[in-house]
Order: sequence, then structure tokens, then C-alpha cells
Amino acid sequence: MNLYSVKQLLYQEGQSQSVHIKGWVRTKRGNKFVNFLALNDGSCIKNIQIVADTDKFSEELMNRINTGACIAVQGSLVSSQGKGQSVEIHAKDIVILGEADAEAYPLQKKKHTLEFLREIAHLRPRTNTFGAVLRIRHTLAFAIHEYFNNKGFFYLHTPLITGSDAEGAGQMFRVTTLDPKNPPLTPEGNVDYSKDFFGKATNLTVSGQLEGELGAMGLGLVYTFGPTFRAENSNTSRHLAEFWMIEPEMAFYDINDNMDLAEDFIKYLVSQALLKCSDDLQFLSETYDPELINRLKNVVETSFARVSYTEAVEILLQSQPYRKGKFEYPVSWGTDLQSEHERYLVEKHFQKPVIVNNYPKDIKAFYMRQNEDGKTVAAMDVLFPQIGEIIGGSQREERYDKLLTRIKEMNIPEHELWWYLETRQYGTCPHAGFGLGFERLVLFVTGMGNIRDVIPFPRTPQNADF
Ligand code: ATP
Ligand code: MN
Repeated sequence: MNLYSVKQLLYQEGQSQSVHIKGWVRTKRGNKFVNFLALNDGSCIKNIQIVADTDKFSEELMNRINTGACIAVQGSLVSSQGKGQSVEIHAKDIVILGEADAEAYPLQKKKHTLEFLREIAHLRPRTNTFGAVLRIRHTLAFAIHEYFNNKGFFYLHTPLITGSDAEGAGQMFRVTTLDPKNPPLTPEGNVDYSKDFFGKATNLTVSGQLEGELGAMGLGLVYTFGPTFRAENSNTSRHLAEFWMIEPEMAFYDINDNMDLAEDFIKYLVSQALLKCSDDLQFLSETYDPELINRLKNVVETSFARVSYTEAVEILLQSQPYRKGKFEYPVSWGTDLQSEHERYLVEKHFQKPVIVNNYPKDIKAFYMRQNEDGKTVAAMDVLFPQIGEIIGGSQREERYDKLLTRIKEMNIPEHELWWYLETRQYGTCPHAGFGLGFERLVLFVTGMGNIRDVIPFPRTPQNADF
């Protein structure tokens, strides 16, 4: 098939050649002699102009080609007289693959709100905005695999269905094949999950980390990249019920190696987007946020600030908004940083990304390595402008006794984690890892304001359409 993409035609040399192209009509305009169709096929943000002379194509055919229609065009590629494009196609033959009713088509030329586009998520991939976002999303996903592969990491596929509810990162979705109207019951009257598909209660995973650790303690360097599910009822612009997470896990890394990797990784990803998605970024920056590209360059070029949680709290207690009572949430040693605090540190105080480490152990998960002070753990959060937390990670507790004590203190069912504990009994080693929320990264790179607009089909409370 000698089918070209718009991208191939716009970026290649050579003219007057015969080409074949298919795509969706964005706009149609014209006069007595000629019609101009702007055709987009998703390969890039730009359209190619189709020139259709009225003496070659009947009015009847032209009337059926409206915004939204899908057409196939055969013609010759010539340099363009018009402004705004270097080449155009002079059509010899046009076939309509799918008509679109001009009146009813929901994507009219006028600018639609992002909220409206969420209601027509089945059509929004055809807009400039979602084309750009989804191409950038692809580029970032690809760069993630490239980065780890080049560094000798192995892609580990961890399960989506989990039998332990000790992953420790939020509310879970139950997975069951029992009849909800008539489930088998135990003598005590509870649902008897031993009769369920897996012979036990199961849920969708909230993190692949624990299994990632098992992989790292054999393969050395591994990463996961898969969907994650959290049934938290948080209707924010930064939370999804189904999101994608990248979780590298590294044998022999300590918390400093972990921070170095996180910083290098994120800089690589942002620089790949700058390199490979310049047209899409240009479009997003012109349409939504003129500061976008500068913000991305800034992340690539400056080294991230690193502070301990204790230092971060001091900075916040000294800050203007704290002293003027402008923060909504309290600041004191021992309470978790809220997103308003994280954004103050990043956007006002340091004016660059910040890695906060050594958090109080009581606000962090059981598996984080306990520091000598007895109060803090070797945790790290990477905080970004506009986003707040983009990465959460830690050095893992590799000492069996300390881990077991912590599990007991936190009332975590020890028997469910027997396999995790065994890795500390047989050939344990220092190791570390982190989780990057993929959509938070895409949010940052695209400059979009709402996480629902950086995943093709978002899952949020009360919303699982499309
Ligand atoms: P937050 O405090 O923002 O709710 P968290 O502390 O629950 O996040 P972690 O358990 O550390 O998050 O998960 C690692 C990363 O996954 C986070 O840094 C973030 O980038 C991403 N993430 C967490 N929850 C969500 C969510 N509901 N939707 C999208 N991304 C998320
Ligand atoms: Mn976190």
C-alpha cells in the first residue's frame, strides 16, 4: 500500500509525486473554482491541505464532505502557494470512507471546553489538544522503556490481581466471581471467600512494589510499568481510580542512589519530550500555557533541591503564608505535607523541583528503612511545580527483625506477607525503589490542568464510561 501519513508528506523532500493519503477533514472552505480541505490523520499536529478543483469534483460529492468526514485522497504533492504550509495535495480522486453530518457532528470548529470534551471522550482523540497529549504520552512511555533498557534494567510484569491487602497504599477494588445476591457465607455470617475463584479474597493491585522487590533480589535491576487501581474517593485534579505507575526496584541501591536515579530518569524523560514532541508542545504552550516549554527546560537544566523533611518543616514554619495564616492545613513536625505545602517549597522557596527525604516513620509505609534516629525512615518524595508529588520512594527495610517489629507495630497481617519476609531471611540485601505516577508526569509535560485530560479514557468516582 503506497499510503503516506501527513507527517511523512510534510517533513520529506521531493514534489510532484503521486501520493495516497487517508484522514479526517478538519475544515473545508472554497470558492467557485476550488475547495480547500484541511486533512488530519493523527500522525502529527499539522494538517495537509487538499486542493480539489470544482471542475474535477461534483458539487454533490463536495457537499457530502464536511468537518469530521473520513476520506481517501489520491493526488500529486506540490509546493504550496498558500501561507502556512510548504506542500499541498492536488486531488485527482477522492473517496468518502465515512460521512459526518455537518449539523450533528459534536466537534465543531469553535473551541470546546475540556469539560465538554470529557463528555465526548470517544471523539476527543480527533482534536488538536488530545492528539498532542496522546502523542506526548506515547513518546514518554516509549522513553521509559528505552531509559531502563539502556541501563540494564529488566521489565518485570507484576500481577494486577493480588491476594494481599497489605500493599499499604490505599483503598482497593474487590475482585470476585461470587454471586453478589447470594454469596456463600461462613458460620459467622460473613462472605466465605474460600469459595471464591482464587480460594481467598482478592483485589486489584494498588502497587507492584512488593513483587518488584522479589524480582530485584534475583535480577538486580527491574522496573514495572502497568496499571494500578485505587478506590480512594478523591475527586481531585491529580487522582484517578485507574492510573499507570512505573516502579523501578534496585538491589544494592541506597536512598542517595535512589534519589540520583529518580532525578536522572525524570530529566531524561522531559528532555525526550522536548526533543521529539516540539510541534505538539508548541501547540499546547500557545493554546494553554506560554510558560510550559520554559518550565520543562528548567527541569532538565537545574539540579533538584534536596532537603530533609525536618528542614522542609522549618522552611514552612518560617514562610510568609504560614505566618500570615494562609495555609489551609497545619504545619508541624510529624504531620504529612499537604499539596499546598509541597507547592510552596517548589514554586516559591526553591523555584525548582525538590526531593524531600527522611520523613517521620509514622506517616510512611511499613517497608521503609528505619534511620538511626529511631524517628524517621529513608523515604523520599519528588515534588514538582504545578503537580506536587510526582514520585514517592524509599530505601527498603532489609533487616528482618526491624521489618517484623514494624509490621507488628502497624497491625499488618504478618501471615499474608510470609513471602516478603522470607526475602529478608534468605540472602537479604540493601535495596531501594520508587513509584512514578505516569499521568502525573504526562500532566507536567503537557501542562494540562486536570489528570482526566492526560489519559484516553479516565476512571474516576462515578465515571467509567467509554
Ligand atoms: P498522593 O499523596 O498524591 O495521593 P500517594 O502518596 O498516595 O500520592 P504513592 O503511594 O507514593 O502515592 O504512589 C506513587 C506515585 O503514584 C505518586 O507519587 C503519584 O505520582 C502517583 N499516584 C498516587 N496515587 C495516584 C492516583 N490516585 N492517581 C494518579 N496518580 C497517583
Ligand atoms: Mn506518596
